[in-house]
Amino acid sequence: MHINELISGAIDQVYAGVERLYKDIHQHPELPFEEFETSRKLAEQLRQAGYEVTTGVGKTGVVGLLRNGEGPCVMLRGDMDALPIREQTGLDYASCKQTEAGIPVMHACGHDLHASCLAGAAAVLHALREHWQGTLMIVHQPAEEIFGGAQAMLADGLYERFARPDVILGQHNMPALSGMVGHLAGQTMSAATTLGVTIHGNGGHGSMPAQTVDPVVIAAHAVVRLQTIVSREVEPSEQVIVTVGKLQAGTQGNVIPHSAELEINVRSFSDEVHDQVIAAIKRIIDAECQAGRSPRPAEYRVLTETITMNNDAATVARLRQAHGDFFGAGQLFEMKRLGGSEDFPYFGNAAAGGFGGEDIPYAYWFIGAATPENWQTTTGDRAAERMLQLPMPHSPYYAPDRQPSLITGMAAMVTGALAFFER
Ligand SMILES: [Zn+2]
Ligand SMILES: [Zn+2]
Repeated sequence: MHINELISGAIDQVYAGVERLYKDIHQHPELPFEEFETSRKLAEQLRQAGYEVTTGVGKTGVVGLLRNGEGPCVMLRGDMDALPIREQTGLDYASCKQTEAGIPVMHACGHDLHASCLAGAAAVLHALREHWQGTLMIVHQPAEEIFGGAQAMLADGLYERFARPDVILGQHNMPALSGMVGHLAGQTMSAATTLGVTIHGNGGHGSMPAQTVDPVVIAAHAVVRLQTIVSREVEPSEQVIVTVGKLQAGTQGNVIPHSAELEINVRSFSDEVHDQVIAAIKRIIDAECQAGRSPRPAEYRVLTETITMNNDAATVARLRQAHGDFFGAGQLFEMKRLGGSEDFPYFGNAAAGGFGGEDIPYAYWFIGAATPENWQTTTGDRAAERMLQLPMPHSPYYAPDRQPSLITGMAAMVTGALAFFER
């Protein structure tokens, strides 16, 4: 029998269980680093599939190992955390979960899909283990949404305790037509930093501004001048975003507050430019504080941070071939660079990921999750443009086309891994 038929047959075998797992995880979403039940379910599934399983890696991460003879080590990574969003999809397996603090939780980014596809792919690759040789490392990563899980797993000795991969593969769903698979070599997602800033003033009565230092005025000047970083300081050929998403000070009109808080989001596609922009932000805020007689220097905190995703070109070429052989070349599309970000690239970047030796090649592709009905409402020639017209991940209405998305995600992982093993 041809390998494609074996893969399709094995996916059919595991499908019902994977769909059950998906609905269960969707209905019971958990926030970053709180994925205790989710990781328990995923660990149980891996054990049943025949893997050596370790839980609690990087707090709630799960690692499954299948040592299957001489050959390369392939790491397949999926994420599993959810978002603080109230689900509005109307699905019969919609989340009705709230945290103890009353925060609604929803799998609005489809990490339930990724986790279920990875669980299914693990079972299929175990069933087909006579057809490949090497070591398969399954990594269910926590806390992608806050860019914490990848580094937490690496800091917990992922490569030292288990295996050091030769190649790392990951995927994300997108509202392209379900059944489609999109690739892009090189820079694919941006580096991102969210900075928290405290500007200090000297509060007092609103009728006596001369006896105070007003942090509202300092913050207002800073916000306006920060807009000149992209327009006046960065090379126009660079794609950079500086957004002040939060500006908070004071309680009422007749009180001059003691301090002002900013949160600033920076996105770029080059480490050098990223450092340049962060330095410019600090220079401008420090100078505005001085100009406004601030009694002490502003304080800066990195709230979240991740690096640029740079997909290895040779790895992407091999994946395109493998995915084309399985799905048909007509199902593939050329992805476009996204302003969004991921912590997945830490797994391949030795310096940023804090592991020794060389960088490890990685690639990350996109699977379609839009229903044919929704897809028909979009216009344009390129799938990567059309998908931007539909609700994106993080929308309370985001609902992947279940069956075709699960099957595509499993098959993309299985055929992707097989492309790098000894056959
Ligand atoms: Zn997300
Ligand atoms: Zn996501």
